[in-house]
Amino acid sequence: MVKKEIIIIGAGASGLMAAGRYKNRDIALLEANAKPAQKIMISGGGKCNITNKKISPDHYLGEQGFIKQVLQEYGQHALLADFKKQGLDPVLRKENQYFCKNSASELVSVLMRACKDIPIFYNHKVHAIEKKKDFIITTDKGVFEAQKVVVATGGLSYPKIGASDIAFKIAEYFGHTIHRLNPALVGFTLQKEQFWMKELSGISLPVKIQIESKKIQDDLLFAHRGISGPAILNSSLYWKRGEIEIDFAPNTVLNETFFCHKKQISTALKLPKRFTKAFLDAIGLVDQPLFKLDTTEQKKLQRLKSYRFAPAGNFGYTKAEVTSGGIATDEIDVDTMMSQKCKGLYFLGECLDVTGELGGYNFQWAFSTAQRLTV
Ligand SMILES: Cc1cc2nc3c(=O)[nH]c(=O)nc-3n(C[C@H](O)[C@H](O)[C@H](O)COP(=O)(O)OP(=O)(O)OC[C@H]3O[C@@H](n4cnc5c(N)ncnc54)[C@H](O)[C@@H]3O)c2cc1C
Repeated sequence: MVKKEIIIIGAGASGLMAAGRYKNRDIALLEANAKPAQKIMISGGGKCNITNKKISPDHYLGEQGFIKQVLQEYGQHALLADFKKQGLDPVLRKENQYFCKNSASELVSVLMRACKDIPIFYNHKVHAIEKKKDFIITTDKGVFEAQKVVVATGGLSYPKIGASDIAFKIAEYFGHTIHRLNPALVGFTLQKEQFWMKELSGISLPVKIQIESKKIQDDLLFAHRGISGPAILNSSLYWKRGEIEIDFAPNTVLNETFFCHKKQISTALKLPKRFTKAFLDAIGLVDQPLFKLDTTEQKKLQRLKSYRFAPAGNFGYTKAEVTSGGIATDEIDVDTMMSQKCKGLYFLGECLDVTGELGGYNFQWAFSTAQRLTV
């Protein structure tokens, strides 16, 4: 049996960063995959959106006090400065988002360099942990013993690259509360009445979405299975199975002057023609000069600014970027990331009940928790 002082489970974003910080201790990493950091490798279109200029708790779902404490010690500035020292200089794209310059492998190399002398047991999938005097960790390749265990195994999203429910099983076993888990940062599937949107696969539009009390302004992408794009992915964080409202033309005012136009509706709207045609069909309006619309027809067209409907569901964990919900943070010591239910057991990253918006917020969370770890 391999015995270590510290075992970190999961060689992903938070696990690798945490391991690097404790490289001078008697430490090992257990990883289910044959390679480290598979999510980093596929993230941000292969360039990994590492962090954001606007990191703050209000871009996260979860207990705000806990999030604030974790982020204030090690936010985007500290993270970028650390990476710069290690030779990684992320570039700013899309206004506020920091990405690797050429490839996500630049970030993985930096994290792996810091873990250079640490044994990493690849292809070791953890099945269970028990606590006797020390922790006994059972994997599909043998048993390990450690005085301290750090669980950094992420959430349920993208099972095809190694995601598992082990963090939640371990947490539950030791008496933790798990807040309801859901696929998040994910596209919506549609009910029959909105199937007209499926015909528009590939079209992208800037929209404004009202969901619960949240207003989101970004691009919507019509997809083969439903609707996606950044506006929808962010909406999925806040969706509670009710209606959402979409303004498909946030830059157009449908006022009296607009309705005096001699132009056809489809010309005046300056939206993709295929979209306008499908939308008009869906609301039962014929394309015609605007001034010819009567009051009832004008009212119908106003639905363009406030199209309300309830999505059928979402694309599920196979497509979701993250898992919302997770291990209740009021049972975790914010100064050390140690479980308040079991001494010597720690949780990092996405398995906690903290979920960030799209834009680098989730990697920042993973790295901030790794820096907070005190074992
Ligand atoms: C397609 C996609 C794109 C994304 N893009 C971005 C982005 O650009 N920016 C951003 O901020 N976030 C992004 N995310 C989210 C981000 O990847 C995660 O929030 C982040 O990786 C979580 O870090 P973590 O350390 O908690 O877990 P992970 O990075 O998921 O690491 C967990 C590790 O644990 C291992 N593991 C799991 N179960 C076991 C087990 N039973 N035994 C042993 N090992 C196990 C896994 O194989 C994995 O290596 C994206 C996610 C996806 C799926």
